[in-house]
Amino acid sequence: MTDSIHPPITADENQSPSVSGKVSPYSIPALRAELNDKGLRMTPQREAILNVFHTLPKGEHLSAEEIHHNLHSEHPSISLSTVYRTVKMMAQMGVLRELELAEGHKHYEINLRESHHHHLTCVRCTKTIEFKSSSALKVGAAAAEKEGFLLLDCQLVVHAICPTCQRSIL
Ligand SMILES: [Zn+2]
Ligand SMILES: [Zn+2]
Repeated sequence: MTDSIHPPITADENQSPSVSGKVSPYSIPALRAELNDKGLRMTPQREAILNVFHTLPKGEHLSAEEIHHNLHSEHPSISLSTVYRTVKMMAQMGVLRELELAEGHKHYEINLRESHHHHLTCVRCTKTIEFKSSSALKVGAAAAEKEGFLLLDCQLVVHAICPTCQRSIL
């Protein structure tokens, strides 16, 4: 991951994105530049998959199956395995965040450092709430720095049982 062109995220949440002097790493042109940098092309499939995230309401996380379903009417030729491969690649590049939520399969969201957050998730119904914590991010950033790692993301997933599910257990 050391060849990523992404500016490393920092524990300072007030830092303006313009400090890095780069365009937002999540725009289509920026992704194209990053792909080119790695000898990859921005294909219509990759662009379509990224666009799903740009139109997604805040706080929503999609599985590969859901992304595939969203794309299907406009892009029937994109297979589920292409979606799997593409989101995996984008997560490795730091463009998407891969989330291991309660149900054991992976969800994805765009990795925007301006809205860096963590997740509180119900292990029964998978209701997921986003929350901010600069202290959790600081711990992660310090650990990465100590070992000389370039921080791409730092996410805390809190596994819990929501109030509704607590009532149904009793
Ligand atoms: Zn989220
Ligand atoms: Zn629940």
